[in-house]
Amino acid sequence: MDIPKSHPRYKSLMTRELLVEMVGKGIVTPTGLISHGRGEAYDYLMGERTIAPAERAECAAAAMLLSAENPVICINGNAAALDAEGLIRIAEAVPAKIEVNLFHRTPDRMEAVISHLESKGAGSVLGRVPDERIPGLEHDRALCTREGIWSSDVILVPIEDGDRAEALIAMGKKVISIDLNLLSRTSRVATVPICDEITRATANILRFTDELRGNRDAIIKAMDDFSNLECRKETLDAICDSLRAEFE
Ligand code: ATP
Repeated sequence: MDIPKSHPRYKSLMTRELLVEMVGKGIVTPTGLISHGRGEAYDYLMGERTIAPAERAECAAAAMLLSAENPVICINGNAAALDAEGLIRIAEAVPAKIEVNLFHRTPDRMEAVISHLESKGAGSVLGRVPDERIPGLEHDRALCTREGIWSSDVILVPIEDGDRAEALIAMGKKVISIDLNLLSRTSRVATVPICDEITRATANILRFTDELRGNRDAIIKAMDDFSNLECRKETLDAICDSLRAEFE
């Protein structure tokens, strides 16, 4: 569809077009479009910008990734479609491994998502040959690799479902989520819940990775100062304030 650049919702409309195109390529599932809609609603409430508590979470996330022994970035269809480049850049900067893990897993879809990441420059992508399972999860979405998700100590999960986030926490991992919904089970259980849109979140994590690298005291402080509950409360306050301002 030809969307004029002057349209006030140009970016959002283009993103929707991209996702529909990615459904056609087998990278995103139709239910992924519903997840995106839920995310958009929260983004609207936040004024479609990075709010202060999200930025603090992005700083804590960069610190946690930099101090990890085996950091892994877990990528699903929506994340690959929306921000392959941003996630690959973080993987290179930290450095961290990339593993594809799909809720609706089929061999064709795995291949489509991994090939898409490789076409965007990802060097090595784990997930084609799973050799472990995430305990406590039924179904093929538990499949993972020993080298990647299974043995990771810190894991970044953008646009994740709550079951898997809970199972990863139960494995003792530090989980960094990117999920605009401050109320999702994922955001509630994550060690660091980033309530921000994925492309803004990855750009900020990357910036903080550059800023914090080599500064051990700042890395420890960013992690120690962070609290899931405080962060989500501040997110709620920011949403309530901007809603109230709309009607004053
Ligand atoms: P949960 O299972 O964690 O309670 P859920 O059922 O909403 O949440 P999904 O349907 O798997 O989980 O959706 C994943 C989440 O990703 C949604 O809550 C949505 O807010 C979020 N999301 C969707 N698109 C984006 C995006 N572009 N950037 C950040 N977050 C997004």
